[in-house]
Amino acid sequence: MESINLVWFKKDLRICDNEALSQGLKAGKIIPIFVIEPSLWALPDHSSRQWEFVRECLIDLKNSLNEIGLKLIIRVGNIEDVIKELMERFHIQGIYSHEETGNEWTFKRDQNLRHFTKNERINWYEFRQVGVFRGLKTRKNWSQKWEQHMSQEIINNPVKVNYLIDIPSHSLPSSKCLSLNLDECNLRIKGGRKQGLKRLNDFLRYKIDNYQYSLSSPLKAFDGCSRLSPYLTWGCLSIREVVQAIRKTKKRGSRAIDSRLHWHCHFIQKLESEPELENREYHQQMRGIRKSNTIFLNAWSQGLTGIPFIDACMRSLNNHGWINFRMRAMLMSFASYHLWLPWQESGLCLARKFIDYEPGIHWTQCQMQSGTTAINAIRIYNPIKQGYDHDPEGIFIRTWVKELQNIPTKFIHEPWEVDLFRQKDSSFVLGKNYPLPIVDPINSARRARIKLKEIRNKPGFFDITNNIIEKHVSRKEKKSKLKKNNTSDKQLNLDF
Ligand SMILES: Cc1cc2nc3c(=O)[nH]c(=O)nc-3n(C[C@H](O)[C@H](O)[C@H](O)COP(=O)(O)OP(=O)(O)OC[C@H]3O[C@@H](n4cnc5c(N)ncnc54)[C@H](O)[C@@H]3O)c2cc1C
Repeated sequence: MESINLVWFKKDLRICDNEALSQGLKAGKIIPIFVIEPSLWALPDHSSRQWEFVRECLIDLKNSLNEIGLKLIIRVGNIEDVIKELMERFHIQGIYSHEETGNEWTFKRDQNLRHFTKNERINWYEFRQVGVFRGLKTRKNWSQKWEQHMSQEIINNPVKVNYLIDIPSHSLPSSKCLSLNLDECNLRIKGGRKQGLKRLNDFLRYKIDNYQYSLSSPLKAFDGCSRLSPYLTWGCLSIREVVQAIRKTKKRGSRAIDSRLHWHCHFIQKLESEPELENREYHQQMRGIRKSNTIFLNAWSQGLTGIPFIDACMRSLNNHGWINFRMRAMLMSFASYHLWLPWQESGLCLARKFIDYEPGIHWTQCQMQSGTTAINAIRIYNPIKQGYDHDPEGIFIRTWVKELQNIPTKFIHEPWEVDLFRQKDSSFVLGKNYPLPIVDPINSARRARIKLKEIRNKPGFFDITNNIIEKHVSRKEKKSKLKKNNTSDKQLNLDF
């Protein structure tokens, strides 16, 4: 039997700066594989829009591998079965992949595979591809470690190989073949390294200077933010190459985006160190406080809450598969406070919509924006104020909420005031053309604040908070967080 090594591509869909590929090639002949796992794609945090993006990334990866004489082998099934099938033809010396920090499912899959490879005496080598460290006991020196990882030399594209292992590959299935519910995302950006590099270069050349001024408003963010997140999530670009390219430009805005790339790994590290955070609240007294409500959840998810700025953001997200940070935070805050929905349910809904869905960032952010970490200031965004601040003329609202297109600007953020206007234009009837607000945005926020105050006044609440601070917060931040904790009631009054 011929001896080979498997290079198992996961969320590292590139050949440049890919240590698993580079080390696999050094070890001998390789077969590059990508396994499409139907059980993973059937999970409620996955969606057809994400698969379509990945499909494009795989076509691009396949072409890049062809250029260096390698054939990407696609398999639909589970990884163990794929390895067993290949073991019938080859002697598998080793498996080379990156260290994945995914969701609970991928964590368990990797645990099972570890047992399997041990029993079969196959060495499985995993390589770090982001600034996230396995088995870390404390956050001490985490930033230095991150810095070290980011400053390592970029691994160039491998040179062309002089052998060919030509075994049949499955074709890439459509969303329908994978039994994924089709969710229209007609303005989604395209997947693949070429697209990612183009976006990175355009951003560095034309946009980075004004980056900081484009972050908050959805009117500017689509053009002004890097929108590199899907390429980082699926590994079309390595975070190290992005950090190094940004540092090289030394332009205004470099530092701001550099620190966000730092956050990228900082949040994933939290889930790596405590995988239960995907399902369970950081603070135990915040568990089970909210109630499911299908009517609210559906109205929110479809952009039919009757709050124009919320609906515009959600409809834009539904069509693009992306929205800027502040609007994500506002959407989540509205679901968790005004609608009082469990973050796990609204979080799943958002996860499916994001083509950049990254479990480590996503679930920690969902918990932060829902107040369940108890170590971050509680931000109850006022969606009307956000609208006035970031879309004063109602341009974004009119783009996405066509029903309000003819409403005069002075009513665009609060169309329930339109009665005065209705006298002139009887064609618009609130509740018929566009829904009445499903909650009163002011009173529902007030109710949420009262409930939060009750919970935080329970005995032992702040002792638990202090334990969380000890575990999750870096030494630098710890002092100020512990101090703030003593004045925590003030944090509840923050209205954004
Ligand atoms: C509820 C909620 C859920 C989120 N879910 C995800 C997710 O699933 N995947 C994801 O990549 N980001 C998520 N974010 C963080 C953030 O909104 C996105 O990273 C950012 O909007 C991506 O756009 P961009 O690439 O243009 O970012 P830029 O502003 O151009 O920043 C560059 C990169 O820095 C990183 N970054 C930026 N902001 C953050 C942040 N706040 N936290 C961590 N990393 C950051 C991302 O990798 C991003 O691509 C979430 C935020 C919230 C509030």
